[in-house]
Amino acid sequence: MMGSCACGKVSVEIDEAPEYINVCNCGFCRPAGAAWGYFRHAQVKVTGDTRTFRRSDLPNPRLDLHFCPECGTVTHYINFGQPERDRMAVNTRVFLQDDLDGIEVRYLDIRGDDMIRTGEGTIGDGHSF
Ligand SMILES: [Zn+2]
Ligand SMILES: [Zn+2]
Repeated sequence: MMGSCACGKVSVEIDEAPEYINVCNCGFCRPAGAAWGYFRHAQVKVTGDTRTFRRSDLPNPRLDLHFCPECGTVTHYINFGQPERDRMAVNTRVFLQDDLDGIEVRYLDIRGDDMIRTGEGTIGDGHSF
């Protein structure tokens, strides 16, 4: 599956559809406007230059958020703090909605003490994504 940022200078290719997509309202995911699918690094090919954002308000930030410097679209993040996990996340909103048909979407709420799942759906169930 192939996708790109809004201006087209950064493209993202994944070798298979994600098992599920997380929509999370935490202070990292929500401003990023991202809906994450998770992959091993070898499954993802990013072409084009990106810039990164690393939080400075955390004592031990673990993620680098990558975005297109031209249009600002968030493309992915790298979990550099845990390389042994070999896990990265791709913003699935860079792909066409039709290409994501049938994938489970999980809505996560972290406003309380725990992260809870408030709902789930499937892309293609009639709602925009
Ligand atoms: Zn762009
Ligand atoms: Zn989050």
